[in-house]
Amino acid sequence: MRHREGCKGPHLNPGETAIPAGDVRKGDIVLAATIELNGHTDRLDHATPYTADPRPDDPGCGCAGHRSLTAEDRAKPLVVLYDGPIWDGACDVVPADALVIIRERAEERPAPSREQSGMDVLRDLLRL
Ligand SMILES: [Zn+2]
Ligand SMILES: [Zn+2]
Repeated sequence: MRHREGCKGPHLNPGETAIPAGDVRKGDIVLAATIELNGHTDRLDHATPYTADPRPDDPGCGCAGHRSLTAEDRAKPLVVLYDGPIWDGACDVVPADALVIIRERAEERPAPSREQSGMDVLRDLLRL
């Protein structure tokens, strides 16, 4: 893949936006996860986009998604974005600060008046 100079990624198509996993809301269409490689954030597109149904992490869950977490992942706050049939019931469990690519929310294009997500509240509390 070639990048423009200084490109940090992720590469977005029209109508896509990248947000921290912790900011994903129920009903968002999640298109891709991301991974940091050599200072560039690369996208890992999901074969089938899913409709997010975020919930708190369940550290005791033994699904394939949870088993694939590294110790480094587990050390961070995690969020489960999806655990439905597309993934055979396995969780898409993601560090809350990792970028995911979602379809732009229709209601946000004209005027941003979104409700606070859990991460916003946390961020306000921590003054990040
Ligand atoms: Zn790039
Ligand atoms: Zn799980």
